[in-house]
Amino acid sequence: VKSRYKKVKRGGRTFNAHRLVMERHLGRPILATEHVHHINGDRFDNRVENLEVRDGRDHVAEHAEERRIYPREKTCVICGRVFTPHRTKRKRARTCSPACANKLRSVTERRTKALVRANVVEQRKERAA
Ligand SMILES: [Zn+2]
Ligand SMILES: [Zn+2]
Repeated sequence: VKSRYKKVKRGGRTFNAHRLVMERHLGRPILATEHVHHINGDRFDNRVENLEVRDGRDHVAEHAEERRIYPREKTCVICGRVFTPHRTKRKRARTCSPACANKLRSVTERRTKALVRANVVEQRKERAA
């Protein structure tokens, strides 16, 4: 089983690397009630600028909400296939593949052009009236 977090061994004990990084940064121990959150969603990116101390309960609730809104699996808006977006793209991903992303882009462009055209026609009508 792959670990959820990067581990560090110190004096025969194992620690979560991100907590140690934050402790060193703050110059104090992280409390048992505190969590260290990975801002970009990558739990192995332990650069201090990617870390934030949160109240443990708030942190758990926040991630539960995130999973509800941005599920692990999404349905491609172009081909309808169920796909698993990369965890940092869960929010934005709408298509399953670059091919579908291209199709979506051209559909959006066509729709935008059609709207612009419709608007221009309407303005012309208004001016004529
Ligand atoms: Zn978090
Ligand atoms: Zn697709």
